[in-house]
Amino acid sequence: MKICPYCGYSNYDTAKVCRKCDSSLETQSGTVYQGKSYWIGPDKAKHMRSRGLSLVVLGLLVKVYWGGYGPWSPIDFPILVTMRTYLEPILLYGGALLYVFGWIARAI
Ligand SMILES: [Zn+2]
Repeated sequence: MKICPYCGYSNYDTAKVCRKCDSSLETQSGTVYQGKSYWIGPDKAKHMRSRGLSLVVLGLLVKVYWGGYGPWSPIDFPILVTMRTYLEPILLYGGALLYVFGWIARAI
């Protein structure tokens, strides 16, 4: 029994074309389409890239507004300065890494 891949009609084993819809059973039988499976995939990778970009932007904002590059004096409250020195590289480099990884992750 050959099942037509288009209409699902059961044809004889010797049939070369489907009796119901006339589509060829020769080339289609045996070839099973397998969608490419990804570990991460393009969709998640795109999401990662946009997340990475927003982290970088956030890092730049922290650098500019918190770090005294803005039109006001830098925040020099010790705890906040300490926080910034950690927060800034995490956001900037973490975001950049996430972006690069998201770019690689398209294909894996
Ligand atoms: Zn058919």
